[in-house]
This record gives sequence, C-alpha cells and structure tokens, in this order.
Amino acid sequence: MPQETAAKPTEAELQALSAALEGKTPQEILRWAAREYQPGLARACSFGGPSGMVLLDMIMSIDKTVEVFYLDTDFLFPETYRLRDVCAAKYDFTPAGYMSLITPLQQVAQYGDALWLRDPDLCCQLRKVEPNRRALDGKRAWISGLRRDQSASRADIQIVEWDSKFDLIKVNPLAAWTESQVWTYILDNGVPYNELHDQNYPSIGCTHCTKPVNPGDDPRSGRWQGFDKVECGLHVPDGQTGYDRLHEDGVGA
Ligand code: SF4
Repeated sequence: MPQETAAKPTEAELQALSAALEGKTPQEILRWAAREYQPGLARACSFGGPSGMVLLDMIMSIDKTVEVFYLDTDFLFPETYRLRDVCAAKYDFTPAGYMSLITPLQQVAQYGDALWLRDPDLCCQLRKVEPNRRALDGKRAWISGLRRDQSASRADIQIVEWDSKFDLIKVNPLAAWTESQVWTYILDNGVPYNELHDQNYPSIGCTHCTKPVNPGDDPRSGRWQGFDKVECGLHVPDGQTGYDRLHEDGVGA
C-alpha cells in the first residue's frame, strides 16, 4: 500500500536534523532513517558504483524491509546484472527493477535511432528519471550515496535534505566519507562490487554511455563522452539538466 508522503520540513528543521546526525556513523544514520521513515524508505542501488554497494551491505544488516530498487534502462552491462544477482543471493532479497515505459524499439520508433548520441538528457529522462519518479511514488524518504569529497558542488551537502525534484526527504549517510573509506569498507567486509571496476571503469552506467578511463583521469570522464553532460538528471532540481551538476554512482547513474 502506498505510504503517506513526507511533509516538507522547514529549512531550520532540516539543519537541526543534519546537525544532530553529523559525526554519526553511516550505520547510525541508516538506523535513524529506518526508525523515522520505514515503511516508506527506499534505497536506489545502481549495482554500478562502490558507494551504493556499501550502503546496500549496511542496510541489509539493519532493515531488510527497506525497498531496494534499481533503474533497468535496458542498456545495463552484463556485469551489472550479474552483480545484481550475486547480491540478491548473498543478502536474500529481491531488488525491484523499474524500467522505462517504452521499450528500446519503441524509443527508436518515437525518437529515432541512438537517442543517447543526439539527446542524452531526453534518453535519461525516459529511461532513468521517469522510472525513478515511479519508484519513489508514495515513499517518504530515500537514501543516496552522495559524498562531499566527490566534487566542489557536493562539498556542502547535508546528511538530511529535501529533494525538491521528487518531493521527499533525501538522506546522505556517506556525506562525510571519502572514496578511500568506501573501498576499505568493501574490502574489509567482502562486499561484492562491479567487476568492471577492475577493468578501468570507475563509474558505470549504460553500455552506450560508459567507457573505461585512463589511470589518473577524472573517474567520470568515461561517461557521456563527447558531451558536456556529467549527470543523468536524478540529483538536479527540475528545470536543470544533466549538464549542470556532477552526480555520483549511488542512484542508478
Ligand atoms: S545513460 Fe545513456 S543510454 Fe542510459 S539512459 Fe542515459 S543517455 Fe540513455
């Protein structure tokens, strides 16, 4: 049954919540989020980024009733589907896949061939943003893998924010973590990760828009090559595009 959606807190309430959670471990933040918002809490997992795998491992030991969903664009790597299946078996849960309302063939019929080469924002809107909106429909809060160390535009993200694009609370348990902490957690805890990371793919999305990068290059330089686009549109307010703000792996990017 759909849950009652969250009322929008005031800015002062959000700041007080974030301040109270600052310095807590990601697990403590996740436990708080589960107490506060479940049922009605969702975790988007792309099976394509290390932060997402850390959060999946944590949430599975805290509250397995939290819905974990992924955006099945129809264009994911075989390695990504394989990781999904490995995780489903390891943690004994069923990831909920949300797909576009149109098939790839229907997309060709309506918008022409290889839309991702001509208008990737529209392609992401059809295959990621709209399904993500459906996945969050009726939810009160969602968990994101955003971190402050990922870019200048993320340096000031709060642990608890209002997501004006999808109209619900966004919780960032890894806000204060670094890339190094993420990988240390993965290796120390035997958390499964996408095997493409070992083949120079630091950031993994759709097959059409993801290339390996050279050592030392910007980890996201392999995404949407040939475009200024840096983001799939999930973490930017309505009215902005994927060219406006950097995005991280954690949410089906
Ligand atoms: S990442 Fe590329 S193929 Fe995937 S939805 Fe966006 S534009 Fe389309």
